[in-house]
Amino acid sequence: MKDTYSRLNVWLNEHQQLILSEIDSIVRHESPSRDKPALDTLATRLATRYARAGGDVERIRNPSGGDHLRIRFGSGLTPPALLLGHFDTVWPVGTLAQMPIRLTDTEMSGPGIFDMKTSLAMIPWAIEAIEAEGRTLPRPIVVVLTSDEEIGSPTSRDLIETEARRAAYTLVLEPPLADGRLKTERKGIGQFRVEVSGHSAHAGIEPEKGASAIVELAHQILHVGSLARPERGTTVNVGQIEGGTTPNVVPSHAWAVVDVRVKTANEAARVEEEFQSLKPVSGRTWITVTGNFRRPPMERSPAMIALFRQAAQIGAKLGLELEEGATGGASDGNFTAALGVPTLDGLGCPGGGAHAIDEHILVRELPTRIALIAALLLELNPDA
Ligand SMILES: [Zn+2]
Repeated sequence: MKDTYSRLNVWLNEHQQLILSEIDSIVRHESPSRDKPALDTLATRLATRYARAGGDVERIRNPSGGDHLRIRFGSGLTPPALLLGHFDTVWPVGTLAQMPIRLTDTEMSGPGIFDMKTSLAMIPWAIEAIEAEGRTLPRPIVVVLTSDEEIGSPTSRDLIETEARRAAYTLVLEPPLADGRLKTERKGIGQFRVEVSGHSAHAGIEPEKGASAIVELAHQILHVGSLARPERGTTVNVGQIEGGTTPNVVPSHAWAVVDVRVKTANEAARVEEEFQSLKPVSGRTWITVTGNFRRPPMERSPAMIALFRQAAQIGAKLGLELEEGATGGASDGNFTAALGVPTLDGLGCPGGGAHAIDEHILVRELPTRIALIAALLLELNPDA
């Protein structure tokens, strides 16, 4: 097996230039989350590429956004490995003009290159490397490539969860942490809107007839803030407020939007219940709360730890010292982990600057990270 690893590495190193030019062409095709024509054209190109690698490509039509792709490699009834990627980015069309693709000896930069267009090229190369090595897959692979991850996966969540329920494990091709660590823990994200209604009145003539929605909302904001439990990883941010009409009117309406991050499902349930039971402090006002946890937390469960440990052993044979870490940001891995499917996230190419103007990958790390994906597909066994 040792030989397999070094041969995978050598083969991928030999193909480095081709891989980089493929990444270049994917980055060159700009694809913001809400631009259906741009996303659909990129989906077509990816479909062609994955079919060339031997995949059975199915296009999932999506009238309310970009189409998604489901690609199957291998056959048989063994539970497949699920690989997740997204081809939308946070960058609007035209960004390339200010942020052109650059390649040096160490870095390649460009919009979306780290999060996560490089990964879209890594998957077919990993599969082709396995084939070049003459090895057969121990289980089928299902790759799901989606067009709306950066906006919370509203139209792809069902597809992701359906495939996860059938899978033995999930590999998420999001970028690793800044120092190359994989991600085994992600916070869940909740968003809640608190609306307060009161009674308006003239602020000078008869203020006593009014009931200020803003004063009530101020009470609620302080209460909501007190739901944070930093020691358990729960944070609360009241990120937006609005209310009132003009200074001389007692305001009858005010609202706030709150972002909550949690590490555990228990904390998500506690916070949700607290939001549902908000009570007005002042008389003659009432409160309406909407919202929920749109991404459940990816908890560092024993199954997740076990999968990471196997991956670290496999990585060691490639000369990688893989470490794990946590992040407050969420991905589609949150959905699969919350279903109890062992999930390993952060398997993209190391680099930095996600969603930032210095977005880049470290090109020298690329062949080994593709070899890692190939080796994981050959060897990971969550039942071991
Ligand atoms: Zn991403």
